[in-house]
Amino acid sequence: MALLTCSDVTFSYEGIPVLTDVNFALEAGSYLCIVGENGSGKSTLVKGLLHLKNPSTGSITTGDGLHPSEIGYLPQQTAAQKDFPASVWEVVLSGRQNHPHFPPFYTKADKEDALRNMELLDLLPLKKRCYRDLSGGQQQRVLLARALCATKKLLLLDEPVTGLDPVMTNEMYQLIRRINREQNVTIIMVSHDIRNILPDATHILQLDQKQVFFGPMDEYLKTEAGKQFLGGADL
Ligand code: ADP
Repeated sequence: MALLTCSDVTFSYEGIPVLTDVNFALEAGSYLCIVGENGSGKSTLVKGLLHLKNPSTGSITTGDGLHPSEIGYLPQQTAAQKDFPASVWEVVLSGRQNHPHFPPFYTKADKEDALRNMELLDLLPLKKRCYRDLSGGQQQRVLLARALCATKKLLLLDEPVTGLDPVMTNEMYQLIRRINREQNVTIIMVSHDIRNILPDATHILQLDQKQVFFGPMDEYLKTEAGKQFLGGADL
């Protein structure tokens, strides 16, 4: 059974459809890249996958032992997030809170998992630093570790390299590739940067107010949509 399945999904705002014909099934271990122009429906679909917005028709189901609450999510960076006044350790650990309560309570297993994810992403030297004093690339690594605390199965990343320079962008892609291949975490990434992800992604979903293409990356590259979308790309 697939990890995630969208069947005949349509999304509407106030009765007006903005994304139709979404049909795909994603197997565990895949690396899916979602592409499309602004307004094509990427964010709407992400909201649907996170169960923050219901489809107006069709269904989104999880399988293969994945519970919808186990999806790790790295949202698009906003200016407000950059000023978060907490230590790196506190930010990473907060990813373990599925059911927030105050004051926060964390088990030994929570703390061990947070440490493991920090080690994986080389964050232990930054453990006591204040999150808002870090560079943009370091902050994204912290948020990636936080998202990993929430899941061992499916990571949903929304434009994770926005605002990063080319060196930090590459570093971020390398980490995501390792998480996919070595930790066997399924990746869904919304991205404009298809050229850099080509070698890593196994599948591609192209949207343009409807599903234009879903399938393996090598098949996409042979389609007209793929050739057009990648027009001018230095492959
Ligand atoms: P993308 O992420 O690809 O830029 P979106 O999912 O944000 O696309 O938007 C898809 C369409 O839905 C756009 O036409 C957008 O104007 C519309 N839309 C998005 N959010 C809302 C909303 N809250 N209310 C009404 N229309 C919306």
